[in-house]
Amino acid sequence: MSIPVRKFDAVIVGAGGAGLRAAIQLSEAGLKTAVLSKVFPTRSHTVAAQGGVSASLGNSEEDHWHWHMYDTVKGSDWLGDQDAIEFMCRKAPEVVVELEHFGMPFDRTDEGKIYQRPFGGHMSNFGEKPVRRACAAADRTGHAMLHALYQRNVKANTQFFVEWMALDLIRDEDGQVLGVIALEMETGEVVAFHAKATVFATGGAGRIFYSSTNAFINTGDGLGMAARAGIPLEDMEFWQFHPTGVAGAGVLITEGVRGEGGILRNAAGERFMERYAPNAKDLASRDVVSRAMVTEINEGRGCGPNKDFVTLDITHLDPATIMKRLPGIREISIQFAGIDPIKAPIPVVPTCHYQMGGIPTNYKGQVINENGSTVTGFYAAGECACASVHGANRLGTNSLLDLLVFGKSSGDTVIEDMAKMPKTHKELPANFADKTLARLARLENQKNGSNVHETRLAMQRTMQNHCGVFRFKDKLEEGVQKILEIEKQVAITEIKDKSKVWNTARVEALELDNLIEVAKSTMICANARKESRGAHVRDDAPDTAEFPNGRNDKEWHKHTLWQRDGNKLSYKPVNMTPLSVETIALKTRSY
Ligand SMILES: Cc1cc2nc3c(=O)[nH]c(=O)nc-3n(C[C@H](O)[C@H](O)[C@H](O)COP(=O)(O)OP(=O)(O)OC[C@H]3O[C@@H](n4cnc5c(N)ncnc54)[C@H](O)[C@@H]3O)c2cc1C
Repeated sequence: MSIPVRKFDAVIVGAGGAGLRAAIQLSEAGLKTAVLSKVFPTRSHTVAAQGGVSASLGNSEEDHWHWHMYDTVKGSDWLGDQDAIEFMCRKAPEVVVELEHFGMPFDRTDEGKIYQRPFGGHMSNFGEKPVRRACAAADRTGHAMLHALYQRNVKANTQFFVEWMALDLIRDEDGQVLGVIALEMETGEVVAFHAKATVFATGGAGRIFYSSTNAFINTGDGLGMAARAGIPLEDMEFWQFHPTGVAGAGVLITEGVRGEGGILRNAAGERFMERYAPNAKDLASRDVVSRAMVTEINEGRGCGPNKDFVTLDITHLDPATIMKRLPGIREISIQFAGIDPIKAPIPVVPTCHYQMGGIPTNYKGQVINENGSTVTGFYAAGECACASVHGANRLGTNSLLDLLVFGKSSGDTVIEDMAKMPKTHKELPANFADKTLARLARLENQKNGSNVHETRLAMQRTMQNHCGVFRFKDKLEEGVQKILEIEKQVAITEIKDKSKVWNTARVEALELDNLIEVAKSTMICANARKESRGAHVRDDAPDTAEFPNGRNDKEWHKHTLWQRDGNKLSYKPVNMTPLSVETIALKTRSY
């Protein structure tokens, strides 16, 4: 069976910060560029980013990209690739000022410079004391950024396909990527987007967990599509739990609140972070703070009738500062916790927030195969990609920066690569749509199958209980078995509504096909990594003199690669060679 084909120079899947930044590069270079998105561009999850975007502008105090690089390597627990980290931190001032020139309405200092606030793990002078590095527009930085990028794309005549869901990559026998197959949600029509370059910017997959700060659309579609096309996924065991999700609701309270002076307290009102991170205290990196909170709760010092949360206190701040710098947070607290933070502390718990792993790329945005070669025609940027700058733990505000830097660099690489490609498109293989159409037909004709909502819930609960902030050997082993069982249910999902127009049931079933790939890779990689590092902390890899923090560099200082076919695992070395400066040598991490 054949489907309609549309031809473009480049197709970008995703219209969040990474997709829009890449699109500006391509459209302004005159390439015929299509951007596909499940939602209107400015509703992408980037819109929810609150706290800021990092860059060593040094607007309020001395700062240097090399310090930023050091903090990022340390934050990553030395799993980040040092070439990519240097590239990102050096480029940061340039891309942030560029964004300002695109019209981004940053807050200002009294001298009219971009306002910067402190953020967890960002320090001056190679780890001395917190530094003001997060460039912010109140507590709505992502919102301001996404709108600025979208407007710039409108000016550049980028062609948007809004409410289109990409279903699968098109890859030929040589392994070259030739575009995607996508579903128009409004009509149910399936169309091929034939392109010389395909850029994935599909964002995160936090919805594999039960409690998440992520939007409902964050279902890891890019990862699912890449995995089905035989591309490995990198470092999937590393998930960041943000310390401050509103207890019971999951909605995020930005770390910027602690940057502005907020303090975490246990039931006794104690500022417990002083015990866990005497130097950085409440501004230690996220994995450290999340674990401290869970330890307080587990040891009976949690708040409330069930002792199951701690509080974030800003009652000592000037109400005028709260209204000016954190208006969105006050609104969220009132709406979701019924508490005005000017008057009372906010109940918070660690909540799944960010995936450090993803589709393997280099710092140019090219996707990298298992054997280290690049995949012709395929690029990825943003949260779906693993460059790897965040390693085992991302620092706050480094993701918005990642979108700008790698969105732009992947666009530049596409332009360079395309100049070397033949003028005409490489022909599509005869059977390019077969697997996708078979998947759709299976869903259409399924009888006596499983319920999508129930299956997804089972997956989310399994991930939450077996692969959370702390990880236990037995729970992980059991988790692998459970997820493999749930995968069988995903293979037989059934939808009752067969209509073509705006069928959200079909979309949710197709999203579950992607979620399960992410969940499976996460559980399997976490079970395999027998050490603690960054966000991955196991009970059977405790803190000892031989292995401080449970980290075992001799055996585990390496990236994981998972392949869907046979759940095969392999490993590759961490790149310890920066582009221009000296290696930041392995060290024990403490804050
Ligand atoms: C609540 C919250 C607050 C945050 N705050 C900060 C912060 O202050 N600073 C910071 O640095 N980071 C922050 N982060 C992290 C950061 O915002 C995200 O990592 C980042 O915005 C992801 O951007 P992206 O462009 O990769 O993807 P997204 O913005 O998630 O966009 C993904 C795009 O892909 C599209 N898409 C997905 N699948 C398909 C498909 N199958 N077909 C077509 N289109 C598809 C979507 O429609 C969307 O347009 C925050 C995250 C959250 C959840």
